[in-house]
Amino acid sequence: MEWGRCTDKELRELEAIVGAENLSTGESVIRLCSRDESYYTPENPPQVVVTPGSAEEISAILKIANPERIPVTARGAGTSIEGNPVPLFGGIVVDMQRFDKIVEIRPADFVAVVEAGVGYKDLNKAAGRHGLFFPPDPGAGAMIGGMIANNASGVRTIKYGATKDYVLKLTVVLADGEILETGSLATKSSSGYDLTRLFVGSEGTLGLFTQAALRLAGLPAHFSAALATFPTVEAAAEAVFEIMRWGFSPAALEILTAELVAMLNRDRELGLREEPTLFVEFHGASEVALEEELGPVQELCQDAGAISFQSGLGIGERNELWEARYEVYESIKRTHPGADPFVADVAVPISRYPEIIEYAGKVIRDCGVAGYPFGHAGDGNVHIVFMGDAQDKDGWEKIQKANQAIVTRALELEGTSTGEHGVGIGKRRFMEQEHGKSLELMRQIKALLDPQGILNPGKIFPSSSLPLDSS
Ligand SMILES: Cc1cc2nc3c(=O)[nH]c(=O)nc-3n(C[C@H](O)[C@H](O)[C@H](O)COP(=O)(O)OP(=O)(O)OC[C@H]3O[C@@H](n4cnc5c(N)ncnc54)[C@H](O)[C@@H]3O)c2cc1C
Repeated sequence: MEWGRCTDKELRELEAIVGAENLSTGESVIRLCSRDESYYTPENPPQVVVTPGSAEEISAILKIANPERIPVTARGAGTSIEGNPVPLFGGIVVDMQRFDKIVEIRPADFVAVVEAGVGYKDLNKAAGRHGLFFPPDPGAGAMIGGMIANNASGVRTIKYGATKDYVLKLTVVLADGEILETGSLATKSSSGYDLTRLFVGSEGTLGLFTQAALRLAGLPAHFSAALATFPTVEAAAEAVFEIMRWGFSPAALEILTAELVAMLNRDRELGLREEPTLFVEFHGASEVALEEELGPVQELCQDAGAISFQSGLGIGERNELWEARYEVYESIKRTHPGADPFVADVAVPISRYPEIIEYAGKVIRDCGVAGYPFGHAGDGNVHIVFMGDAQDKDGWEKIQKANQAIVTRALELEGTSTGEHGVGIGKRRFMEQEHGKSLELMRQIKALLDPQGILNPGKIFPSSSLPLDSS
């Protein structure tokens, strides 16, 4: 079935809904809203970008788009790295930036009610005044709606959980324009199907969120941070497994290769030992509780062959390290000016972490590609940023092969093709392999909620007619 296009009539109707100042068909806006942080670009860019200001306006937009089968793609901050918000079949981009209100913070209930376009960093500034925070932390300037749609997580997920663990209620506009509320403010519920979590991770394919009630956590009273270095990245991964196996509960446990530490030293003058490194952080109610965890963790690292273990980092040093850690992706890009990044994001059960780290290193060497593994090790999550030229067919093919091999191994190890970045365009081709018959049920849910298929088409589900899925 053909996709619909906005004619002058629909463009006039859209303008009447959002106002002329909130509609653009200008080339630069269209280009901006055709991209995320990945290399994917649409062959058929969107026709129009609208910036509505209420759920009712989004509902009216969908009531125009749905009968004509005009694609509608929601856009948050556009920081995805799998092509998640890249509109593939023209149509309308719904830019959520005007949904920027923190509606309410209820400290006594540990709850924040926010609109979908609020940046999580802004939410954390406001919640911090009450001694609270929203723990999922993808690092980039993501919006709450985009984080919910991708089920984002980050460095603190190991202790606090991912976005899915914090969404209590959602206001969703469905494809036919109906406005729905799911969930409640109770922190637990056994009441019927969990529709809220059905929408979490749906990447804009089941509905557009306008507002969410989110659980908040108390800011930790004390923290301790440590750096451990190892002779090999495999030894560091072994230490990760031991720390988790013994039941410790770090707030962050990140792995970096010697090469990446060297890049951070270059960009930030950190003076770190250029060896495979673990960043470990603990949060606790007292200094004593933290020391009780850090001592045995140091021993476990030494048993795994640690060369050095530096604890007692002050707040300044610790913050500097985290800022540098968040910059890893940019540091890699600076090392390869003009090259295109391609990011792998597999996650495995923690006992298989050393295996996937070792395997990723072998694949990178065997394929002869530029690839940099790092990740949220305590979650069993490894990212590999590959750098190459997307226009160089042979070179890019090698990167695709390396990625394919690593994802396949992660699935063999009973893991997943994407720990936190979502399926978008890049991971569609692994969905069949990962989900088997469950993928058909996902297709049926999609067809039930969006029978015309207008919401962010071409994402999540593989199809032989889509480029990149036929190989
Ligand atoms: C340097 C860098 C580091 C990153 N690190 C991490 C990390 O550690 N952990 C992690 O999880 N991610 C990470 N990411 C990926 C990205 O930041 C997250 O996936 C983030 O949640 C995307 O949010 P966004 O607002 O940019 O959404 P967008 O990229 O704009 O959109 C994401 C998806 O959500 C949909 N969407 C957006 N808003 C809505 C809405 N209101 N209703 C319905 N659907 C909507 C879009 O259609 C799209 O499918 C990183 C990205 C970069 C560039």
